[in-house]
Amino acid sequence: MNQRLQQLSSWLTEKNITCSFVTSTPNVFYLTNFYTDPHERLLGLFVFQNEEPILICPNMEITQARKAGWEYEIIGYSDTDNPWELIQNSLSKRNVTVSTLALEKEHLTVERFEQITKLFPSSSFVSAEEKLHTLRMIKDEKEVSILQEAAKFADYGVEVGVQAIAEGKSELDVLATIEFELKKKGIRQMSFDTMVLTGVKTAAPHGKPGLETIKKGDLVLFDLGVVLDGYCSDITRTVAFGEISEKQREVYETVLNAQLAAVDACKPGIRVGDIDRKARSIISDAGFGEYFTHRIGHGLGIDVHEFPSMNETNDLLLQKGMVFTIEPGIYVPEIGGVRIEDDMIITADGAETLTKFPKELIIK
Ligand code: MN
Ligand code: MN
Repeated sequence: MNQRLQQLSSWLTEKNITCSFVTSTPNVFYLTNFYTDPHERLLGLFVFQNEEPILICPNMEITQARKAGWEYEIIGYSDTDNPWELIQNSLSKRNVTVSTLALEKEHLTVERFEQITKLFPSSSFVSAEEKLHTLRMIKDEKEVSILQEAAKFADYGVEVGVQAIAEGKSELDVLATIEFELKKKGIRQMSFDTMVLTGVKTAAPHGKPGLETIKKGDLVLFDLGVVLDGYCSDITRTVAFGEISEKQREVYETVLNAQLAAVDACKPGIRVGDIDRKARSIISDAGFGEYFTHRIGHGLGIDVHEFPSMNETNDLLLQKGMVFTIEPGIYVPEIGGVRIEDDMIITADGAETLTKFPKELIIK
């Protein structure tokens, strides 16, 4: 078994859990290297203390699972089979009596949970996420090198976007240019819906790009990322189109100072909450505290938002191998918003930013 499966398996032994049933695409990918979106169909992975694991997937996916390197049992099923019956048959052949089962409680639907309780009527259920989140939080060398590459594509996306800005062009026009250029470089999927916002629309942290056109004196905000070999990047830059007001400039400089201070504070042993607090106090001292309406960042990896959550109350200490974003923002409804976001990796004695697009105010 690979190291990740072994780590999960040892955890089961340590906690006296019979087995784990993992059902989300990201966690199955993390443990097996097999990435598939099964839509409404069942995807699952049984991991045991001392038995070989079992993968459950649609018949039509078996070839892909083998290609991804899965060498253990696969329970394949067609659209007319009942996969739960096939699971029951397979487990009874192995003589496994499940007394405690670790599940992804955050992912599993009630319908599936009902199927599972029918299958294991005398079992108790615990969370598998507790362990999976912790494992995934610390990236190995291979993951770091993929995340570094993914970040370079994010930088490139912003570069294309800044170049594409022009008077009268719409947000969606610029957005399409960014994604078209990334696709030409082999990027199939973005980490989330690309954001290009202009004018006062930048004041919505999760605004929706539309046909609004770019005008002189606008702030233009880009938030985007790519998926590369199953891993996400996530960058935000805000630039000025033509001369902006003193107030807009003050908002920009405050966010930049907060972002640089938080980036600078990242190193092993520092409490996550203190990173958030560092940026928040700079923004509050400048009088914009009420306009910084979200946490400083989030873990980044197979999911674009994963552990650790970079919020003020998180007492977790930063450790080598953690990858996360630092993205303070100030959103003033009548002026607009500024957010600056980098992806970070904690190293043995400090931290590095993976995204490298310049942060000094660009006036286009
Ligand atoms: Mn982010
Ligand atoms: Mn972002």
